[in-house]
Amino acid sequence: MPFFPFFKLNFIQVEVSTFCGVKCEMCPRSYFEWKSENMDLELFKRLPLGRFKYAHLQGWGEPLLNPDIGEMIEIAKKKCRVGLTTNGLLIDELKEELLKLDLLAVSIAGIDAQRNVRKSELFQIAENIELLTSEKKRPKIVIATLMMKNTIHELPKLVELAKKVGADQLIANNLDYIPSRDLVGMEIFSENPDERFLQIIAEAEKRAKELGIEFTAKPIKLEEAILCTENPLRNCLVTVDGLISPCAYLHLPTKDDFIVRFFKGEEVKVKKLYFGKADDFERVWKSKDYSGFRKMIEMRFYSSIALPEPCRTCYKAYSV
Ligand code: SF4
Repeated sequence: MPFFPFFKLNFIQVEVSTFCGVKCEMCPRSYFEWKSENMDLELFKRLPLGRFKYAHLQGWGEPLLNPDIGEMIEIAKKKCRVGLTTNGLLIDELKEELLKLDLLAVSIAGIDAQRNVRKSELFQIAENIELLTSEKKRPKIVIATLMMKNTIHELPKLVELAKKVGADQLIANNLDYIPSRDLVGMEIFSENPDERFLQIIAEAEKRAKELGIEFTAKPIKLEEAILCTENPLRNCLVTVDGLISPCAYLHLPTKDDFIVRFFKGEEVKVKKLYFGKADDFERVWKSKDYSGFRKMIEMRFYSSIALPEPCRTCYKAYSV
């Protein structure tokens, strides 16, 4: 029985698969010993989806590789709004199931960058997106890209591609988790953002306006935020094996019990953070440890209390 039957939390991210068919240059899967698994359907059925307004069926992996994804979408749709992020390669095989979603995000690195960074062919993904956008009743389609030093120059062209394939929005994210020293310096954000990057973003914004397409670029200036956009006060992540974590940045499906991050050029190890099992959600959400973690963040609205320790070296805490 929920403690607050009328009060819904915002967003539950559900890691339905940690398998992936591609090996992207910026993905932690390319650097660590990975545990590839699919979430069990019986476990999925026990998740507290009805406690949230929206469920995003994706964590560190490609959700369409879970053979039960169609049934999972059906189950989730009865309880809340549902979306997922995919690399786009299997859209044609799961078209009917995906048309039932409220939101579908497709990750694309760029025009030429797609082959080099995401190691996949763009034409195939573009055709797959059009399979959905050509339908009358379909989810909101978002193209999600990462702004990195070797991809940012293609942002205005990506706006045009988004328009061409009939997507509704282009979202430009940052390389906000840096899993390897090889990637240090590939991020475009900093305390003093480079004028050239700001100009490219402004150009993409202008092109989006002209084409009548929604465009959102994450800020590229590092500034400590009171609350990160993952908002652990209202949102949470369920891992592939059913554990609750405040966010994807405090979990990785690796064998170690810590996460390696590169923050301002330095390697840091942060202990993974889980508060309990998702099928015991009400108790876990109200537990002393989880409430205490949220309380520390909540207090930041009223006083100059420091970030919780695991957040101090997370770029999401610095507005990017
Ligand atoms: S700052 Fe980072 S680690 Fe902390 S809750 Fe936000 S996303 Fe998670």
